[in-house]
Amino acid sequence: MNLRDCIYYVERRPSVITMKKIYLDYASSTAVDPAVMKAMEPYFSEKFGNPGAMHSFGQEAQAAIDESRQKIADFFGCSFDEIIFTGPATESNNIAIRGVVKHARQNVRSRTPHIITSAIEHKSVLATCHDLEGDGVEVTYLPVTKDGFVRPEDVGAAIKENTVLVSIMHVSNEIGTIQPIEEISKIIRKQKSSMPVFHTDAVQAPNYIDCNVENLGVDLLTFSGQKIYGPKGVGGLYIKKGVEVAPFITGGGQERGIRAGTENVPYIVGLAKAIEIASSMRNKEAARLGKLRDYFIDEVLAKIPNTELNGSCENRIPNNANFLFRGIPANNLLIALDQAGIAASSGSACSIKTVSPSWVIMALGKNGEEAKQSIRFTLGKGSTKKDIDYTVSALAKIVSRVSTI
Ligand code: PLP
Repeated sequence: MNLRDCIYYVERRPSVITMKKIYLDYASSTAVDPAVMKAMEPYFSEKFGNPGAMHSFGQEAQAAIDESRQKIADFFGCSFDEIIFTGPATESNNIAIRGVVKHARQNVRSRTPHIITSAIEHKSVLATCHDLEGDGVEVTYLPVTKDGFVRPEDVGAAIKENTVLVSIMHVSNEIGTIQPIEEISKIIRKQKSSMPVFHTDAVQAPNYIDCNVENLGVDLLTFSGQKIYGPKGVGGLYIKKGVEVAPFITGGGQERGIRAGTENVPYIVGLAKAIEIASSMRNKEAARLGKLRDYFIDEVLAKIPNTELNGSCENRIPNNANFLFRGIPANNLLIALDQAGIAASSGSACSIKTVSPSWVIMALGKNGEEAKQSIRFTLGKGSTKKDIDYTVSALAKIVSRVSTI
């Protein structure tokens, strides 16, 4: 669909103000939890001090950061000084990848650093790797199985003497597959000649699965606020003691000198509160949404012809369903769904001129057309069986209408 078509659809939409609205795009963003808002509020106004200042206002802000850092460290099973705060997860991923490469370059000047990552990573990892390739870094993009998993043995086979970093995501944001991080870690730890740093982008994980860094066996782990009912634009990075990450944002030395700049105190407080809530709700929500999601998958596959589930049913995060609607352009379907009040998404990046197919769906062995016919639905706190029934019935109507045109 080109831009003119996009505008055509937007202009012809009925008024959406009074329409029933169903949000099924929780992997994209979540509403800030009221308890998170409440925890953040004082730090915008009466507790506004700069945490770097010596006076009581500054001390109060610093204490809030310390308390937040401890809560987050407890959640990830690490120590207080192994957590740094950043902006969005994109920044954490950049700090992890560029920081490890920069450190390697500063210390072993004769070698070309080599990174191993996967073909299904988020753009913030892939674009960073592409950019580094332009700067002389060697990158291996591992394929995945047709079910959407990196094979641990592929990681082992790709490690070379100059491999400085392995970056494999914990959970796919598009197809929800949970990657075998523990197994990959074991393979990396067995290396004799070179021991690369192991980074995982765990942005989609904390609401539903264990993120203990010891259990995962990772050296670096990216997390973020906006996917866990916390604020946007704040995240963090776990950096295992002894792992060197050279800073590329320099300034006043905050966050161990790795991410300089005055800390965003209210957002950090909100991030910690969101993690605390995620931890207390995790088992219950994972069980509830897992059942609801399985029901959704069964209903779609049974009631809508020519549909397929993208990615495995096993080892999949409980809130994700991604379908191929064979023969139906995802963008037409998304717009029709939006007109019915339902928000979902496709992996395609809708740029001004073109809609590019999702590289994640293509990595499963699907072709470009199939990738452009795939849609992601992600459930969350507000999702109910009624919403799913409404969505399935809307999908059935839209698909039969579009198929007969
Ligand atoms: N990594 C994953 C797996 C994501 O799903 C996202 C956002 O969708 C990001 C990184 C980037 O997050 P942000 O846009 O907040 O920087």
